[in-house]
Amino acid sequence: LSTADLIEEHRICVCVRKRPLNKKELTIRDLDVITIPSKDVVMVHEPKQKVDLTRYLENQTFRFDYAFDDSTTNEIVYRFTARPLVETIFERGMATCFAYGQTGSGKTHTMGGDFSGKNQDCSKGIYALAARDVFVMLKKPCYRKLELQVYATFFEIYSGKVFDLLNGKAKLRVLEDGKQQVQVVGLHERDVKCTEDVLKLIEVGNSCRTSGQTSANAHSSRSHAVFQIILRRKGKMHGKFSLIDLAGNERGADTSSADRQTRLEGAEINKSLLALKECIRALGRNKPHTPFRASKLTQVLRDSFIGENSRTCMIATISPGMTSCENTLNTLRYANRWAHA
Ligand code: ADP
Ligand code: MG
Repeated sequence: LSTADLIEEHRICVCVRKRPLNKKELTIRDLDVITIPSKDVVMVHEPKQKVDLTRYLENQTFRFDYAFDDSTTNEIVYRFTARPLVETIFERGMATCFAYGQTGSGKTHTMGGDFSGKNQDCSKGIYALAARDVFVMLKKPCYRKLELQVYATFFEIYSGKVFDLLNGKAKLRVLEDGKQQVQVVGLHERDVKCTEDVLKLIEVGNSCRTSGQTSANAHSSRSHAVFQIILRRKGKMHGKFSLIDLAGNERGADTSSADRQTRLEGAEINKSLLALKECIRALGRNKPHTPFRASKLTQVLRDSFIGENSRTCMIATISPGMTSCENTLNTLRYANRWAHA
């Protein structure tokens, strides 16, 4: 392998994270059908029945850059996924980290932090861990002399529209100029000086995201949340880290829903996840033509997919239960194709 090949190979990192069985699954005695036999292999053991009613397990194996079992902490997941990308933005690059998976599989837990208890703790999510290390790096002599400024944005894409989570969900327009630069007009970029500043913004954004919703998960399962850490030098962009909690990928049922809005939202989500896959594939192959405009998500992330120094990592989150098997297999197949783009 040449140096170029090595760099190429490291531009996309794809891993899988399995969460533990939750209370509901334990109550219905759902079976754990996922094993992680080694650090980069996921196996699905799907119970099946032959025509003569004999039962058997259909075993399917998938290989990724990393596979994290249900005892892995956010800190460890972070260390192998987003952590290496913090360096990228200091070296004038664009970094992107996605959480992809079915609703309830652990995307928000991984990216945003632990919201299961009464005390919502966003300090353990990848948004916060990445921010922490940005401020650590900033103190290194080689970067301190650059006098970089740190900013954060937090917005959501819902049904093809962009809303600012740091400005009362203001609806924003996306414009492309003649040089194909994409701009989210009026997006609030907040000045942040320390990790605590960032934690406050995450809290503000999270509560804005779910305000007015009857169920937090019903809404968040249908929208993409984008949290960005931007480094600027004398006002000019130096590097950008986009961390994305994607909409749930289980959309099969939506297409036959009686509700028109539900069908449209479902179609929009399918479209954006498909466009994302195409854009990442193009990134891996260095293809000149990438279908950014196919969805709002890929359009606003355009500058993260181009350029010499763009790096991406995807964390595919999966539920362990047999009742989630179909969605889990869909997630693994999607991520697998990404991994070998
Ligand atoms: P999603 O955002 O994909 O819909 P969540 O992150 O909200 O899923 O996770 C659903 C539930 O499972 C939450 O109560 C969350 O706290 C819990 N959970 C998710 N991942 C883990 C994990 N790795 N360890 C422990 N609990 C988890
Ligand atoms: Mg979520």
